[in-house]
Amino acid sequence: MKLKKIKNKNPDLLIVGAGPVGCVIAERAAKIKKWSSLIVEKRNHIAGNCYDEINKKGLRIHKYGPHYMRFKKKRIFNYVSKFTKWIKGNYIVKSYVKGQLYPIPINLNTIEKFFNKKFQNKNQARKFIETLKIKKKKIKNSEDYILSKLGKEIYENFYKNYTIKQWGIHPRNLNKSVVGRLPIRFNRNPYYVNQKLKVMPKKGYTNLFKNMTKDKKIEILLDTSYEKIKKNIKPNLATIYTGPPDVFFNFKYGRLDWRSLDFKFKTYKKEKVQECVQINFPNENKFTRKVEIKHVTKQKSKFSTISYEFPKSKGDPYYPINNKKNTNLFKKYKKLIGKLEKENIYFEGRLASYRYLNMDEVIEAALNLFKRLKIKYG
Ligand SMILES: Cc1cc2nc3c(=O)[nH]c(=O)nc-3n(C[C@H](O)[C@H](O)[C@H](O)COP(=O)(O)OP(=O)(O)OC[C@H]3O[C@@H](n4cnc5c(N)ncnc54)[C@H](O)[C@@H]3O)c2cc1C
Repeated sequence: MKLKKIKNKNPDLLIVGAGPVGCVIAERAAKIKKWSSLIVEKRNHIAGNCYDEINKKGLRIHKYGPHYMRFKKKRIFNYVSKFTKWIKGNYIVKSYVKGQLYPIPINLNTIEKFFNKKFQNKNQARKFIETLKIKKKKIKNSEDYILSKLGKEIYENFYKNYTIKQWGIHPRNLNKSVVGRLPIRFNRNPYYVNQKLKVMPKKGYTNLFKNMTKDKKIEILLDTSYEKIKKNIKPNLATIYTGPPDVFFNFKYGRLDWRSLDFKFKTYKKEKVQECVQINFPNENKFTRKVEIKHVTKQKSKFSTISYEFPKSKGDPYYPINNKKNTNLFKKYKKLIGKLEKENIYFEGRLASYRYLNMDEVIEAALNLFKRLKIKYG
């Protein structure tokens, strides 16, 4: 590692990872406290998994899967709005089952179409679903959860095989929270997410995080892993680590499992290829979903790019696998993480906290961590 490349070898903060968490901490530190930050990022770009780019046909693609931004809290939206203008994010997702497309999350339209029935109101539909539910004394896993909420037919057609494909694990062996994240609706709300504030950055996520880290007090070193520089860089105040915990501790207690994905992009000479941004394939094909992000970016072009997602067990860590083995293992790492704060090392973000967190949630977590740093090193 040529340290010559680094301008500031004594930054106030050493930040590991130029994803949303790393960028937010660096921005706040520069703006509020005039602290300098050195961000080291092992990839060749900023923005973490939110990274997007323009492909050869001039179309914006989300390199690590579609990122549907939504905000639970106006305060977080207001903060991020300082760095971007927005376009609407009315995300529509459908599932391809037995040759037909059905709205996802399951809603009244899905239920009517699938069972070929018409309901006058929510209550009628609820009563009907009540007759299909399989009663469970205790909801122990994802299978129990869906069987007890929607019954066998919906479970078998929409959830079971999708979950097996996505996770490589039977829903019986996955915590109920895995399928529980997706709402179940008895209204006709067609949107993928519940939040009213659903948007996408007008010029993309990479641009958003570029704007966030413009301050001269922020230095970003790409293609550089923490492991390579950690002996040589001693920050004045603290280290913020946003990578996986088991890697940090050199797998002391063993490896945390992650689910990964392969993304295959294909460009078609067509204005639009499919009828909505995302189509899920629970039962057919090796891929889980086909995404045409142009439905949201609204780019004008004769071409359109589709990304196909193939789940796999090795590769970049994308989704923590929420089962007993990993929960117990992470608990052990968490104890070590807690102790490190005395040595001014902090863990934050989706990888570091081994939790499925959306962008607004990690941005909020980063803002909260910055508040703690401000108090401690104020
Ligand atoms: C397939 C997929 C789809 C998603 N869809 C959505 C969505 O629709 N809506 C939503 O809100 N959220 C979505 N997310 C979640 C979103 O990507 C995360 O919330 C967000 O990226 C987390 O930010 P972060 O900074 O914690 O981590 P990351 O974005 O993962 O950034 C961490 C960075 O740290 C770097 N790093 C790790 N270890 C080291 C090291 N040792 N040295 C140097 N660099 C290191 C990594 O290379 C990475 O760039 C999705 C995630 C995935 C994987």
